Amino acid sequence: MADVTDPRPGIADRLSRMIRLPTVSAELEERGTAPFEEFVALLAELYPLVHEHLDLERHTDFGLLFHWSGREAQGGTDGAVEGPVVLMAHYDVVPVDESDDWTYPPFDGVIADGVVYGRGALDDKGPLIVVLEAVENLLADGFVPARDVYLSFGGNEETYGRAAEEIARVLRERGIVPWLVVDEGGAVVDAPLPFVPGRAAMIGVGEKGVMTLTLSARGSGGHASAPPSLTAVRRVARAVDRLGPGTFRPRPSKAVGRMLTRLGSHTPGPAGQLLRLLGAAPLLTGRLFAALGGEAAALVRTTVAPTMQSGGTAANVLPSQASATVNLRIALGETTQQTVLRVRRRIRDPLVTVRVEEASEPSPESATDNAQFALLADALAVSHPGVPAVPYVMMAATDSRHLHRFAPAVYRFAPLDMSNAQRASIHGVDESVEIVALERGERFHRALLERLG
Ligand SMILES: [Zn+2]
Repeated sequence: MADVTDPRPGIADRLSRMIRLPTVSAELEERGTAPFEEFVALLAELYPLVHEHLDLERHTDFGLLFHWSGREAQGGTDGAVEGPVVLMAHYDVVPVDESDDWTYPPFDGVIADGVVYGRGALDDKGPLIVVLEAVENLLADGFVPARDVYLSFGGNEETYGRAAEEIARVLRERGIVPWLVVDEGGAVVDAPLPFVPGRAAMIGVGEKGVMTLTLSARGSGGHASAPPSLTAVRRVARAVDRLGPGTFRPRPSKAVGRMLTRLGSHTPGPAGQLLRLLGAAPLLTGRLFAALGGEAAALVRTTVAPTMQSGGTAANVLPSQASATVNLRIALGETTQQTVLRVRRRIRDPLVTVRVEEASEPSPESATDNAQFALLADALAVSHPGVPAVPYVMMAATDSRHLHRFAPAVYRFAPLDMSNAQRASIHGVDESVEIVALERGERFHRALLERLG
C-alpha cells in the first residue's frame, strides 16, 4: 500500500477559519443565511482540488453533496467494485449560551498550546475537516478511489433539518445504495465504561428512535369545592405515573452484547471476565442494565420521559382539560407502532387520549462481522494503532439515519480522540480539539479511502 502522501500543513488554521463562521442553525432567523453561504465559499477556497475533481450538487438550501468518481466510472477495469462510500458530516453548530464563561470566545477559533478552541471544533466541523483534508491530500497524489465516494455535508443537522433527508432521497431515487456510510457519533475515547480502562474507538452501529406523545383528558369543569374522584388533572397524572421506568421490557440489541464482549477481551482480570460473561448473556445483561437505571438502562430498553404537563385555568376551578408531553427513545428492534400500543395498554384509561406528535423509527443495526466493519478497523490500525473498534448503540439522532433506511452498513464514528472533558464540551463550554487528533483523523480517512478495493 503506497502511503506516499505528505499531509498539507495548516489543518488547524483551516479549522479555525471554519469556526469563525457562526453557522448556528437554530439562530438562522437572527443571523441569516450569510454564514452558511460564506462557509460553502470557504470550502471552495480551502479545498481547490476537491472542487476541481469532485462534482458538487446542492440539495435544499444547506445540503452539499460532492461526488468523486471511482475507478470504474473513470473507465478503468482494475478492481472496480460496486457500491459507493458516503462520508457524512454537518457544518451547522448549536448556539452558545451567553452566560457561559468560555476561556476563548466561542467563534474566534483560537489556537493555543496545540489545541483549536471554538463551537463546532468537535461537533461537527472537526469531523468534517478531516474528511476534506484526506480527500484533498489524496487528490494531490493523483489518487483515484476504487469505489465512488460521496461527501454529504448538511447545514441543519442540529435543527433536524431536511438537508440530509433530501440527499438520502436523491441517492435512493438514483438507485444508489451505499456500500458504506460513515457519519458522526462515537469517537476514540478514554475509559468507555466506568470500570473499563484504556482507550477504545466507539463505533455506533445503530441509533434509537424518537417519539413525542401528548396525553390529554377532558373534564366537565365546575367548582373545586365538590370534585369528582378523578379530575382531568388527576387522570393525566395517573397516566404519567403508569408510564414508569418499567413500562418497556429490556431488549438488548446485538450491539450491546458485542460491545461488552469486545471490551471484555481488552480488559484484564475479573472485570474483563465479567464483561465477556455479560456479552454472552443478553437476558442477564438486559435485566442488570435495566436495574442500574440511567444510561445503562437507556442502552437496553425504550425509555419514557415525561417532559411537560399542563391543565386547568384557576386555583379554585375544576380543570376542563389537562395534558402531558412524554418523550420516548425507542430501542432497536422495536417500532413506533408497538410503542404507542404499549403506552395505551399501560395507561389503561380510554378517557386519556394519546396523540403522536412526532415519531421516527429506530435505525436497523449494522453488522460487525462484515467487510465494512473490518475496513474501519483496518483504517483505525493505521491512525490509532492498538485501539480496538467497539460497536455500540447511540441514544441521539444523526443525519445518517436517513441513509440507514436503505443502506445496510452505516457507522457513526468520528476518528477523533476525545477526552471525557472534551466530550462534555460538545453542546457545552470550551469545545476544543487537539491538532494531533485532527492529524490522526485525516490519517484515518485517508487509510480508509486507500483500502476500498
Ligand atoms: Zn453533531
